[in-house]
Amino acid sequence: MTTQAQDSVEYMGPPILSHWIGGRPVAVLPEHTGPVHDPATGSVIARVPRGGAAEVDAAVAAAQAAFPGWRDTPLIARSQIFFAYRELVYRRREEMAALITRDHGKTFLDALAEVERGLETIEFACGLPIHLAGMNTPNVSTRVDAHTLRQPLGVAAGITPFNFPAMVPMWIYPIALMAGNTFIWKPSSHTPGASQLQAELWNEAGLPAGVFNVVYGGREAVNAILEHPGIAAIQFVGSTPVGRHVFETGTRHGKRVGAYTAAKNAMIVLPDADMELAADSAIAAGYGSAGERCMAQTLVITVGDAGERLRPMLEERIGKLKIGPGMDPSVDMGPIYSAEHRASIIEWIDRGVAEGAELVVDGRPFRHPEHPDGFYLGVTLFDHLRPDMSIYQEEIFGPVLGIVRSASFDEAVGLINAHQYGNGTAIFTTDGGAARRFELEVDVPMVGINVPIPVPVGYLSFGGTRASAFADLQMRGEDSVRFFTKQKEVTVRWPEPGKRGALSLVFPGN
Ligand code: NAD
Repeated sequence: MTTQAQDSVEYMGPPILSHWIGGRPVAVLPEHTGPVHDPATGSVIARVPRGGAAEVDAAVAAAQAAFPGWRDTPLIARSQIFFAYRELVYRRREEMAALITRDHGKTFLDALAEVERGLETIEFACGLPIHLAGMNTPNVSTRVDAHTLRQPLGVAAGITPFNFPAMVPMWIYPIALMAGNTFIWKPSSHTPGASQLQAELWNEAGLPAGVFNVVYGGREAVNAILEHPGIAAIQFVGSTPVGRHVFETGTRHGKRVGAYTAAKNAMIVLPDADMELAADSAIAAGYGSAGERCMAQTLVITVGDAGERLRPMLEERIGKLKIGPGMDPSVDMGPIYSAEHRASIIEWIDRGVAEGAELVVDGRPFRHPEHPDGFYLGVTLFDHLRPDMSIYQEEIFGPVLGIVRSASFDEAVGLINAHQYGNGTAIFTTDGGAARRFELEVDVPMVGINVPIPVPVGYLSFGGTRASAFADLQMRGEDSVRFFTKQKEVTVRWPEPGKRGALSLVFPGN
């Protein structure tokens, strides 16, 4: 591992981010870093370390050294640090949002909302002591009592994607830490800007050194985490191929792993829906954050004549969308996060055309007049998507919305249930009976009724099914409390003073 401070060498480039290990920044040499881009202009704004096994080893050593002290820190003292952290993040939420917009590209208001949704889980963790309470059952047998302990696992890790650089890690580390584990976070190298601030704020809140560590890097760092014998549990959020690899490799190395992965979400619009609401919702859920959300609704399954009525309303709204730098308050949609991803979205649109989908609005030609090197893309609308098309089956993760025509409610629900992905879904209707049937019959864990992006509030659990998750439990909420703790059942006998039972080899009974 290189620990030489960056100011000790002749270096004139953009700022270099530092790993955060053992309560302090660990600087690296420029040749061990990669570029971080501002997608709004295409320029390089920072350099991020390419960490590997050495950095993971150092972080595990720091986290292991800090574990006994943190595990034994009284819950109330842990909680006080959490309240302080919550306050610091809240106070500096606009600064954190601006950092997110800078390397992700999403609009500032969207980034601010992301930090606020992350805060919900930090707030949940402030009150975690009640969820860590075990059961206590007196008199389970003659003069025998039983109680349950929920204890931390040791060192836990979080591996997170580019698209929510604050909210997704904030869905993982608060519960891991408050449950008494120490933690290693491996952020996405595309959007690391907000991670340094999170480490600094933990420090300011009074978290002991080594309890929270940040290691940057790609495949090598991730594989080192998956194979490290000192790490007990991993939550991963990202794409399906990497998530499958993380789950398979991590569990093979004896770890608990929850991997929450890709999605292709669909919303149903019934003919009785409030069409204005459905159209606004489809635009917001399809194109918000340039479609780079795992809860984006990218398929709009219309029933009966709903498609004919909805399509012109979508076109009208698309015509009014403003695309530009995320810090411009008049902008609705920012750029794509990287040039490579922009190129891949364009390839998907080409494929959709080749497969015979009707291209209603083509986002490919869009260029921003003032930022020709920014990674901008216009929004695209397809109609008459069919399940045999790859653009119906695969996640594009860009501003590409497709209308799918269906004849009936049953057919529409059947399409959702047959899809390889299952993360979020929604129905737009004014018929309570149809909505009720939908929530009972749809095989997707996060369901909205006239709500386009049904991300549950921060104290509830979140997770997918089929190829959208490789996990036994969901993340956040009560499921994450279970994930980040091990349960112990204690059976206690206190004989009557002065009396002892007789020796017996019989299996213990009543
Ligand atoms: P990604 O899989 O490329 O990266 C996720 C993490 O894995 C990053 O930290 C990255 O550095 C690391 N990584 C990348 N390639 C790797 C490899 N070959 N081996 C080991 N590690 C590797 O995902 P992304 O592009 O950053 O994020 C977008 C994806 O995340 C989309 O598929 C999206 O649907 C998904 N996502 C899912 C959820 C959810 O809750 N289900 C939430 C947000 C994003």
